[in-house]
Amino acid sequence: MEIFDSVIVGAGVAGLSAALFLGRAGRPTLVYDGGKPRIFAVEEVREFLGFDGITPTELLARSRDEVLRYGAEIRAEAVQSIRPREDGLFDVQSGSGTVRARTVVLATGTVDELPPLSGLPEAWGRDVKVCPCFDGYEVRNQRFVVFGLPERLAYMASWVFMWSPQVIVVSQHAFNEADAERLRLLNIGVTRDEVTGLIHRGGKLVGVSTESGHEIACDATWIVAKSRAASDLAASLCEVDEFGIAKTDAGGRSSRPGVFVVGNASDSWAHLAHATAAGTKVGPIVTLYLLEKLLAEKRAAAAVRAVAPSLAAR
Ligand SMILES: Cc1cc2nc3c(=O)[nH]c(=O)nc-3n(C[C@H](O)[C@H](O)[C@H](O)COP(=O)(O)OP(=O)(O)OC[C@H]3O[C@@H](n4cnc5c(N)ncnc54)[C@H](O)[C@@H]3O)c2cc1C
Repeated sequence: MEIFDSVIVGAGVAGLSAALFLGRAGRPTLVYDGGKPRIFAVEEVREFLGFDGITPTELLARSRDEVLRYGAEIRAEAVQSIRPREDGLFDVQSGSGTVRARTVVLATGTVDELPPLSGLPEAWGRDVKVCPCFDGYEVRNQRFVVFGLPERLAYMASWVFMWSPQVIVVSQHAFNEADAERLRLLNIGVTRDEVTGLIHRGGKLVGVSTESGHEIACDATWIVAKSRAASDLAASLCEVDEFGIAKTDAGGRSSRPGVFVVGNASDSWAHLAHATAAGTKVGPIVTLYLLEKLLAEKRAAAAVRAVAPSLAAR
């Protein structure tokens, strides 16, 4: 069976950054990826220094090339399960078989749970936006509609206000006094209704349709949605929260020795820069973990050698 120092699951920026470090450290490293990184929802990457406007395809293609240059291997396959062994190693199973790993880095990302609105799948990441950090600049001072889960609606509406004062919240939610005051102070109107679909004319978003049959004109929408772990691998190996997001320390160490979790899989708020940094940060931590394991093995072997002559003399 093939044995790798590290098996990384997920070839988004977090997993590939970890692979770049481990490859350059000479560690036999295998990366699995069974789907699409989350950033593929957009046409152009924003807010990633040095890469503003690059397409996700180009960003990931360049990143993969750099990783391959240093000897790490990338397989286009989903990992189905990871089984911890008694000797501290892990059996990693994919469709093509099982490999063994001394460490596992989960960089499996998150998925966004979107409501079943007409036109939403096509508009996701384009006319339906998740965070003004990524594309508020492109629609600054335009007309915004904010909708979605009630918990963070007032926060989101006031946050996008910093990019445009023309904000309407569409929701039947009864806001508590603190949230209502926040909206009032910023003159953000609340339309008591629910968004049911997006209206496009001539290929351009012109508004949203609502449950009561109205149309509300807008140029961009912001959705408050939940995201959850894209894979249940972390939940099967270590402590996770209610959304399957792994609980780790600042270095990506999970509750199980030898299992590390980085990027959106342990921080659903991470932007590309944060996810890249987390992958880069975990590289030396995994390498040190491997070093300590190697030293422990050598210590054990030396101890066996030390008692062996006395045994032979008996
Ligand atoms: C609409 C939208 C727009 C965004 N725009 C920006 C932006 O402009 N700038 C910015 O900085 N950030 C942006 N982000 C955030 C950005 O997408 C994330 O920060 C980034 O994708 C996190 O990288 P990651 O490597 O942690 O996860 P991902 O990029 O999601 O990679 C995880 C990978 O793991 C794979 N995977 C999962 N399970 C398995 C399995 N069992 N086996 C094998 N592979 C598996 C997935 O297929 C995926 O390829 C945006 C997010 C959204 C939703």
